[in-house]
Amino acid sequence: MIESPSSRPCVYDVLIVGGGPIGGLLATLLAATGLEVAVVEAAPPEALGRTGSDSRAIAIAYTAQKVMVAAGAWTDMEPEAGAIQEIRVTDAASPLFLHYDHLEIGDAPLGWIVPNPVIRRAILAQVIAAPTAHLFAPVRVERLERLPGRVEAHLSDGRILCASVAVAADGRPSPTREAAGITITRRDYHADGMVCTIAHEKPHHGIAHERFLPAGPFAILPLAGNRSGIVWTEPRKRAATLFALDDAGFLEQLRQRMGDFLGDITLDGPRFHHPLALHYAERMTDHRLALVGDAAHGMHPIAGQGMNMGIRDVAALAEAIVDARRLGLDSGGLQVLQRYQRWRHFDTLLMLGLTDSLDRLFSNDTGPLKLARRLGLAAVNSSGPAKRFFIRHAMGLVGDLPRLLRGERL
Ligand SMILES: Cc1cc2nc3c(=O)[nH]c(=O)nc-3n(C[C@H](O)[C@H](O)[C@H](O)COP(=O)(O)OP(=O)(O)OC[C@H]3O[C@@H](n4cnc5c(N)ncnc54)[C@H](O)[C@@H]3O)c2cc1C
Repeated sequence: MIESPSSRPCVYDVLIVGGGPIGGLLATLLAATGLEVAVVEAAPPEALGRTGSDSRAIAIAYTAQKVMVAAGAWTDMEPEAGAIQEIRVTDAASPLFLHYDHLEIGDAPLGWIVPNPVIRRAILAQVIAAPTAHLFAPVRVERLERLPGRVEAHLSDGRILCASVAVAADGRPSPTREAAGITITRRDYHADGMVCTIAHEKPHHGIAHERFLPAGPFAILPLAGNRSGIVWTEPRKRAATLFALDDAGFLEQLRQRMGDFLGDITLDGPRFHHPLALHYAERMTDHRLALVGDAAHGMHPIAGQGMNMGIRDVAALAEAIVDARRLGLDSGGLQVLQRYQRWRHFDTLLMLGLTDSLDRLFSNDTGPLKLARRLGLAAVNSSGPAKRFFIRHAMGLVGDLPRLLRGERL
């Protein structure tokens, strides 16, 4: 028989629904300060980081990497991470392009490219190792009761967990967000992002390429060694046709888009495709609940910022909770949630607006607009201050940064 925990004090300070990269990162950082954290994950832990389970190559911005370091997860990621030394942005075959070089603002790389399963595995290992983080998996949160002063999560195996506050880190569909009645705004891009890893003959020299082709953006992202991650966007129907090709046919199409600057290419792992859509929650908090990562927002991968925004959520929420606890305040109280909402809402909307405008600007092929954006790229490229601002933005250095993003302790 399951005892109702409502008569007992809560065992956990924070209950996180979802043990993906964002939920796992938050759990590790909070547990490192001594808080008792429960993480409930629907998938079996060994499946989450299995090599070949996902071919997304994730661009981790300079500041986001500092959060991975603070969580102790970077050591496991580093051997698989490719440093981004330069970014080259081109508009179709236009010779005018935007070129970011890390040397323009210092010695540090602009960011790193890491395979998503490596990120998941490294973070999960830290959750499992943390003495005060408790992973419940594979099991689902079926119902979350948000009561005065506490939350109770009813799990699919019959257990009931009690905490001061719940965090929805349960990804795009976020059943927790839905159940809380928080509505989302959504825009379907009617396009798919095809992703795969390629091995190539020649070195990439740490250069990330973002090409705005008429059908959609096409990115070549430098992984460790002579390997690169591909993110290839096409309208949904065309993507389905390309994706249905056998590996040889797909590679042939890929060679046509890429050219031969990396020498001969081969596929290194399975291919996947993801429907692309923008979404954002009308608010990031509710009574005893905070939304983080894809549960709160999702964007076009055009600027490689989706997970980075989730990492910024984690850094802000962890700081708000830990500061409140140090002052003896309620970690799930209104003050904490309001601070988090204020901190993250504007930054999130700004990035969503930016990625959405980029997509609109570059997917429109009318003559004057095409010329204007090519001149725009060239103008930014030749203006020192504008260029440095965009480089700092890509590195995640712009805005009111939480301590963890500044490389400080929580
Ligand atoms: C093609 C593509 C390329 C991308 N490239 C980049 C990039 O370069 N840089 C970047 O920053 N971002 C990028 N992103 C975005 C990035 O992949 C996501 O933002 C990130 O993976 C989201 O992590 P998350 O932990 O919020 O969600 P998820 O990874 O979706 O994790 C959610 C977890 O919650 C669990 N769950 C769900 N419901 C329940 C429940 N009821 N009970 C328990 N558990 C539950 C799920 O099993 C899952 O493990 C890209 C996205 C795409 C599609």
